Amino acid sequence: MLELVDLVTTYRTRRVEVQAVAGVSLTVGEGETVGLVGESGCGKSTVARTIVGLVRPASGQVLFEGKDLASLPAKELRRLRQEIQLIFQDPYASLNPRMKVSALIKEAWRIHPGLVPRERWDEEVRDLLDRVGLRPEHADRYPHQFSGGQRQRISIARALAVRPRLIICDEAVSALDVSVRAQILNLLQELQRDLGVAYLFISHDLGVVHHLCDRVAVMYLGKVAEIGPKDSIYAKPAHPYTQALLSAAPGIDDWRETDRHEIVLSGDVPSPLSPPTGCRFRTRCWLAQDRCRDEEPLLIERGAGHPVACHFAAS
Ligand code: ADP
Ligand code: MG
Repeated sequence: MLELVDLVTTYRTRRVEVQAVAGVSLTVGEGETVGLVGESGCGKSTVARTIVGLVRPASGQVLFEGKDLASLPAKELRRLRQEIQLIFQDPYASLNPRMKVSALIKEAWRIHPGLVPRERWDEEVRDLLDRVGLRPEHADRYPHQFSGGQRQRISIARALAVRPRLIICDEAVSALDVSVRAQILNLLQELQRDLGVAYLFISHDLGVVHHLCDRVAVMYLGKVAEIGPKDSIYAKPAHPYTQALLSAAPGIDDWRETDRHEIVLSGDVPSPLSPPTGCRFRTRCWLAQDRCRDEEPLLIERGAGHPVACHFAAS
């Protein structure tokens, strides 16, 4: 359904160009949940912003049902944009504080006219609130009258209002307490079962991604280090970076005990302004050799069921 082809997105600040996304290819199938994980600053949100058109790619393509979003006529683009919705970490920042919940949801139908006839708006608001676990009387309240978890339910309801086929969740549960987070994750799964919606689930938290996703892509400094089925990524991480992330993730022990060792990464993530030559991870990698400096490892299949971008990937 969604396909990113060698996507590159740059930001220009004070005459310098930062390549925040440096050639990302991945797919999300109908009704599938794909996780996108990696440390802060690796380009996850930029991938999301590029998909929904908030920033333009410098090169590469965003294909939705095989159509390149950059080359579509405005009308068709609007229809496709409606089918991809984005939910953020902080719903309070994305919900207009002066609008009641009912108005926030109806606003989506004003932006996308023809979706729901006006005489059905009130009824549809009630249905949506019910679907996300809120009560009918919540329609007349303002965002500040809700808890963080409830506000995230409101943004989910608003996203669902335009009947999307793909919802991009960008750290959507990261700010929530553990118990509330579990409720929202359950809600997302329930909605997927009932409506068949697909998710691109972005998180720095490997535990949350483990809970929800079918496939997982691991990003480092603007590139995908490794991508594959969840079970394979968590039980047999092949890229040293994925191994380091997993070794630091609490409560995840799929990785065979015998292989597992404590890995403490030295140094910080290099600046995307001047990424290392060759392999971007080599400056923090305990396996690095000359080849890693000279030759960029491509994301290729090594017969392990998931492609890895490392010259010395574990098999
Ligand atoms: P993540 O979501 O993984 O934390 P982002 O996509 O937000 O990463 O950021 C990727 C890189 O792009 C970072 O180095 C960040 O500093 C930079 N960046 C993000 N937004 C902007 C912007 N508006 N202008 C300039 N640089 C940006
Ligand atoms: Mg982000």
